[in-house]
Amino acid sequence: MAAAGNVEFIRARSDKREYRRLLLPNALECLLISDADTDKAAACMEVGVGSFSDPEGLEGLAHFLEHMLFYASEKYPGEQDYTKYISEHGGSSNAFTSSETTNFYFDVNADNFEEALDRFAQFFIKPLMSQDAVLREIKAVDSEHKKNLLSDGWRMHQLQKHLASKDHPYHKFSTGSWETLETKPKERGLDIRLELLKFYENYSANLMHLVVYVKESLDCIQSLVESLFSHVKNTDQRSFKCPSQPLSAEHLQLLVKAIPIIEGDYLKISWPVTPNIQFYKEGPCRYLSHLIGHEGEGSIFHIIKELGWAMDLVAGAGSDSNEYSFFSVGMRLTDAGHDHMEDIIGLVFKYIHLLKEDGIHEWIFDELASINETEFHYQDKVHPISYVTSTVSSMRLFPPEEWLVGESLPSKYAPNRINMILDELSPERVRILCESKKFEGSTNCAEPWYNTSYSIENVTPYMIKQWIQKAPTEKLYLPKPNIFVPKDLSLKEVPDKVLHFRQY
Ligand SMILES: [Zn+2]
Repeated sequence: MAAAGNVEFIRARSDKREYRRLLLPNALECLLISDADTDKAAACMEVGVGSFSDPEGLEGLAHFLEHMLFYASEKYPGEQDYTKYISEHGGSSNAFTSSETTNFYFDVNADNFEEALDRFAQFFIKPLMSQDAVLREIKAVDSEHKKNLLSDGWRMHQLQKHLASKDHPYHKFSTGSWETLETKPKERGLDIRLELLKFYENYSANLMHLVVYVKESLDCIQSLVESLFSHVKNTDQRSFKCPSQPLSAEHLQLLVKAIPIIEGDYLKISWPVTPNIQFYKEGPCRYLSHLIGHEGEGSIFHIIKELGWAMDLVAGAGSDSNEYSFFSVGMRLTDAGHDHMEDIIGLVFKYIHLLKEDGIHEWIFDELASINETEFHYQDKVHPISYVTSTVSSMRLFPPEEWLVGESLPSKYAPNRINMILDELSPERVRILCESKKFEGSTNCAEPWYNTSYSIENVTPYMIKQWIQKAPTEKLYLPKPNIFVPKDLSLKEVPDKVLHFRQY
């Protein structure tokens, strides 16, 4: 029997949709959403298997499998039966492979949802994975890789991964290529299709989360989901756990100078930190990114913009994993900014020092919490396809009543947690990446997968101390309270008189 739980979802005040949690007998956990006003229906399946699970020497296998599932199934054996049906009925479909999950999603005209969902469900029940599809999809993965070779985003991301512990999956190349999926496995005498089938065994119902978004009632969609997804096999796989931190001492206190493909200088200062997700109710990284990324007077950005050194600044922690995360401050530099890189780094550290000296303030946390609350409760409705893809990730990370809210509403003021992260943003733990074509001719290393040229220098706490001393820090101070942040969002009684005022 499937269990449909009575969950009291924490939800936005403006949200009129209906929700239901459903746990199928095969341990597949689902969230059903009914929206009478929608003309599109959507679904997203997140499988808790990603590129970190790629077998040694078969880089990109998880991504390759993601491609193969789109191709055809035993029930719908025609090539592109799924994608064709979706696009012919006003929809779109896609998927992505991240380090710990693979996500598949689509939307379609509300009236065509049932048939589309049946085709989609076959990915997880009986995909065809035919021999002829294998070669074509390796080529597709390879051409994706060739495109990525020209993208600085992919190149710099891989460079950061390259400069990490070799025995941590973070270090690996994740997307795959002709070399990793065809040439090298052949040399080792491996049949890549058999490897693919073996890898597909990891796709167990107990590692899956499904969100469906429909026009019909919850009861109606519940019986459809039960009838389709109860056939997904449950082999009780263990969910992936990262072995440890990806960076050790040798990967810290570094300045990496790398050459991008595209013109323009970029500076990124980052630190490994305790993931915010472990303390999402306290939100320590949010507190710090609010201040370090502040753009008002007294902020880092305000100063470097006035000096003509940077065009933008973003600060915050990524939600990479439950086990590790990086807090970073990134900015696009001008030519003058490039020449003052040391001053900018000094300024960032001076501000962090200021945050420590000045202490943590409850009024700043309250102000941030109020901003978050307004944003959450009065958010605009997003497209069903965006809603299902963002909500599905919460299912793996949060208890059911918090699936709709996730990390968005930090509510517990915990200065000790904020101080803990602040201590992690130290000169001893930093690594700095600077991208610029001005480094051409002065680099001496190449990252193996993307062939990005770079060089490495050591940055000691003593050097940073000197940079702080010569940085233009006199105008640096914490923001003042913002009187325009609403503190009370409850509706006020408005007397009739006021409502009719304009008629006079
Ligand atoms: Zn792909």
